[in-house]
Amino acid sequence: MQMLDAQECERARITRDSRYDGCFFTGVRTTGIYCRPVCPVRPARAVNVSFFPSAAAAEAAGFRPCLRCRPEAAPFSPAWKGSRTTVERALRLIDGGALDGSGVEVLSHRLGIGTRHLSRLFQKHLGASPIEVAKTARVQRAKRLLDETDLSMAQIAMRAGFGSLRRFNAVFAEVYARSPTELRKRASARSLGRLGPPTRETDRPRSRSMP
Ligand SMILES: [Zn+2]
Repeated sequence: MQMLDAQECERARITRDSRYDGCFFTGVRTTGIYCRPVCPVRPARAVNVSFFPSAAAAEAAGFRPCLRCRPEAAPFSPAWKGSRTTVERALRLIDGGALDGSGVEVLSHRLGIGTRHLSRLFQKHLGASPIEVAKTARVQRAKRLLDETDLSMAQIAMRAGFGSLRRFNAVFAEVYARSPTELRKRASARSLGRLGPPTRETDRPRSRSMP
């Protein structure tokens, strides 16, 4: 897997270096949560962290998105910037929903490469398959809509690219261990009352075992 070396990531994580935001994600084994380099939560001990080149790779490894630094809000700034145009094009197409209705074959055809080549490129640069990247893209789209709009759950499910409300709920239960409704309540509680102490989401022990 091609990405920044661990020392560079570790330095960026400890110093909360915003130039690295979007370049990598940090999974914390003790909590099962993954974060952006700019997460406001006190950094975990180095011995407990792993670095991933994409949010999808962190999720594929069993980590949940942090509710404080919101990985879905990270800028698009992959570590390879500028040099891997096929992967970038693929990412933009996936972000636009290319894998929500049709399969990887159609996507690779549009890119003019074979599906195996596409899979290899994704594994190398993102540490995840096109399908895993598409799943994370849908979840992130939906999470942003949950936080930023008043759309109904059914509308969000459709707009984010889930085939059904049921699928939307199932994927959120898997990725966040919470229903979309719970996440929205949490977001509105946060924006209404700034009185309470900050929540310590990433300090919470995970309830499911690591792969
Ligand atoms: Zn975080």
